[in-house]
Amino acid sequence: MAIESDVLVVGGGLAGVASAVVAAREGVDVRLLAHKKSTLRQASGLIDGLGYVPPRTPLEKHADYVSQQRRDFREVRDKRGDYLGPLQTPYEGIDTLPDDHPYSILGADALRDGLALFDDLVGDTYLGSHTERNALVPTFGGTVKPTARYPRAAAAGLASDERPMLLVGFRSLTEFDAGMVADQLAAAGVPFDVRGVEVSFAESFPTDTKITRFVKAFDHDERIKGIPVRRALAEVVKPYVDDAKRVGFPAVLGDDNAASVRTDLGDRLGADIFEIPMGPPSIPGLRLEDRLFETLDAEGVRLETGVPAVGYEKDGDTVESVIVDRMGSEVPYAADTVVLATGGLVGKGLDSDREGVREPIFGCHVPYPEDRYDWFVDDAFGDQPYARFGVHPDASMRPLDADGEPEFANLFAAGSVVGGADVAREKSASGVSLATGVVAGRNAAIESRKRIERVEASS
Ligand SMILES: Cc1cc2nc3c(=O)[nH]c(=O)nc-3n(C[C@H](O)[C@H](O)[C@H](O)COP(=O)(O)OP(=O)(O)OC[C@H]3O[C@@H](n4cnc5c(N)ncnc54)[C@H](O)[C@@H]3O)c2cc1C
Repeated sequence: MAIESDVLVVGGGLAGVASAVVAAREGVDVRLLAHKKSTLRQASGLIDGLGYVPPRTPLEKHADYVSQQRRDFREVRDKRGDYLGPLQTPYEGIDTLPDDHPYSILGADALRDGLALFDDLVGDTYLGSHTERNALVPTFGGTVKPTARYPRAAAAGLASDERPMLLVGFRSLTEFDAGMVADQLAAAGVPFDVRGVEVSFAESFPTDTKITRFVKAFDHDERIKGIPVRRALAEVVKPYVDDAKRVGFPAVLGDDNAASVRTDLGDRLGADIFEIPMGPPSIPGLRLEDRLFETLDAEGVRLETGVPAVGYEKDGDTVESVIVDRMGSEVPYAADTVVLATGGLVGKGLDSDREGVREPIFGCHVPYPEDRYDWFVDDAFGDQPYARFGVHPDASMRPLDADGEPEFANLFAAGSVVGGADVAREKSASGVSLATGVVAGRNAAIESRKRIERVEASS
């Protein structure tokens, strides 16, 4: 017998969580299934809305970056530098985006709704909702990133704050080079004095588990050579603080007890403490994922992980059920409506090989240039066409077929599986996931209710 729900969300990333919560709040019965962990745990934990927009310059102006044979047909704009920004607010550039961008399709209010949902889900663990302006957050690469919401742990590090800053790296944690980050920030013209220092600290930790090992040690204030780790760190950093009013560390300062780690270090150093988000495995990303998954339970969403959707059954233009592989058995999950939130090329929501690009569960139409040479540009940092690959939806977030008609009457899409945005260059990934998630979840719930009412009326 099929497993049943009103709305079935496939995918457990930010987009899937947003869709599921919004649908559940509309009063329908929601099930979310996810094959694997999402990209949240690789991500910085910053919630980017829109930081940069592509210029609307003619291709020819930048033809020197395009090899001769491709010049005439390539949609390439630049080498790397001419995206416009950082934008003061994530909303101001939306009307300059291409027509097939999710924000152009949905409008700025969808992003506002998505961010409002996020604020509600994470409570006071995140900041930024007091203003529409982007915050400027230093990154571990030494850049300053415009972002819409940031973890409380990053708050004292904002680049709009003019207080002198000290950055501290650990010699054994090579992922974070405090001197380089400080130099890059200074070169970028930040309005404060910034210094970087590397200290010898916890050198005895095994090299292959460093980040998680640091997190655990700070959480439990473990003893290293008999001294509690927070005190030990404060003692080695104290001589460098000087006139710094805020001290930044790589984002490894605990997990469950992160706030008390910062308070403890701050009291000992006489400065505000902040974390700089790091690459994978990202502790801010893991913290966020935990928080979001906790809210699913509270919102009444049934969650099932470790199960891939592998196909579907349909009746005319309607998806009847999604076929799920449960330990080798194919089990149909019936639903009135389905939200596809399976991620992009990284999350496996899209497949690509020499033959083409596909959405693997429903076979939804994914527009892409026929000539594979047109998928990429030579410059790794250039405007890569493949970054915009994905399903193209209508304004209710239903994926469209090659003729511009909805693939199915009851299928909606959200997140990176939706094309049209170069989220990495625009700094818009989480914003796109939240905006599309909110609209897809809401419409999936509304459509589900209509179907329930129709069945009730006819019986
Ligand atoms: C390295 C990295 C850094 C990032 N940094 C930032 C940042 O600084 N700021 C920012 O705003 N965003 C950032 N992001 C982007 C952000 O984390 C998300 O990738 C983005 O919002 C897309 O989320 P999503 O929910 O669409 O997809 P994903 O997070 O990819 O989730 C897809 C989900 O679908 C599941 N799935 C896929 N196929 C199936 C299937 N067949 N059956 C069942 N489940 C399936 C996956 O297992 C997963 O749970 C970063 C991403 C990465 C990878």
